[in-house]
Amino acid sequence: MEQIYDNIILGTGPAGMSAGVYAVQYKINSLIIGKEPGGMMVYAHKVENFPSYLGIPGFELIQKFLDHVNQLNVPISFEEVVKIEKKDDIFNIYTFSGKIFKAKTILLTLGTSRRKLNIKNEDKLIGKGVHYCAICDANFYKDKDVCVVGSGDAASNASLLLSKIANKVYQIIRGDVLKGETELHEQLKNNPKINLIFNNEIEEFVGEEKLEKVILKNEFNNQKEIQLQGAFIEIGGIPNTSLLKELNISSDNHGFIIVDEFMRTNIPGIWAAGDITNTHPGFKQIITACSEGSIAIFSINQYLKK
Ligand SMILES: Cc1cc2nc3c(=O)[nH]c(=O)nc-3n(C[C@H](O)[C@H](O)[C@H](O)COP(=O)(O)OP(=O)(O)OC[C@H]3O[C@@H](n4cnc5c(N)ncnc54)[C@H](O)[C@@H]3O)c2cc1C
Repeated sequence: MEQIYDNIILGTGPAGMSAGVYAVQYKINSLIIGKEPGGMMVYAHKVENFPSYLGIPGFELIQKFLDHVNQLNVPISFEEVVKIEKKDDIFNIYTFSGKIFKAKTILLTLGTSRRKLNIKNEDKLIGKGVHYCAICDANFYKDKDVCVVGSGDAASNASLLLSKIANKVYQIIRGDVLKGETELHEQLKNNPKINLIFNNEIEEFVGEEKLEKVILKNEFNNQKEIQLQGAFIEIGGIPNTSLLKELNISSDNHGFIIVDEFMRTNIPGIWAAGDITNTHPGFKQIITACSEGSIAIFSINQYLKK
């Protein structure tokens, strides 16, 4: 007879792995499916804010999560999910390799993809000068020159944070205004270490082993170079929701899944946790993903008991 799980967790990042640990504690018959262990954490050079480790590379930390889940014998299937459909109150999960998994409830922890600039040498220099999370990686740039790309609160906060560590911070803004909180704008303008560069975009990153400089282009197509060691791209994340379209899950204006305090979506039987949700914008972290994954399982357990 075909197996119908009580719950399937989609995603093998910190939200999904934590959910797996709690599923065992609640004795929920769960399966975790994810493309690969990790998600965003594998990009974290060194995680310095997860309690229990003063500093640990992201890929090592996720391996520890995976070891924990394996020792608890939570089944994990490393597969890419390509489609999810709900039929007669059962969720059918289709994978790229052609498998179909079935469950009474699902927990979506598919995370986000970083919004990139998609310019020359960006991929090559990720983690070697090009970063997407100032909260995470600012400390590597003590007394160095860096830039932040973006005009919103995330970018402005990144510049202010970096100004406490780096020697000089260039904030590169495509248009002629800063967006978001005006109070932050005053702080930026009054900060002697921060140099706001309006009406400019980075055209190219330059460097072989690590970032050496950026080439900027202004609205008149004039180019200029800035020598620096770090670039922080703070133009937001894109939630990985493309395969969820047919499920009619409510999302906010930016595409993040709307959840309540128990991580329930608007669709009965579907929960979401971690970076993919609309909770605490601007503060998406490993610890918050873990917390949401565990809360979701608490709620799923209550639902299944009914
Ligand atoms: C460069 C960088 C550095 C960071 N540093 C830190 C730090 O120092 N400290 C900190 O707390 N946070 C840090 N973060 C943030 C942190 O990594 C995220 O908040 C956290 O990973 C979110 O966890 P998540 O489980 O919600 O999503 P993710 O970790 O993104 O996991 C999503 C999972 O879903 C899977 N998935 C997606 N689509 C599919 C599909 N179609 N089929 C199957 N599986 C799929 C992925 O494979 C992945 O396993 C950093 C982020 C970045 C980008």
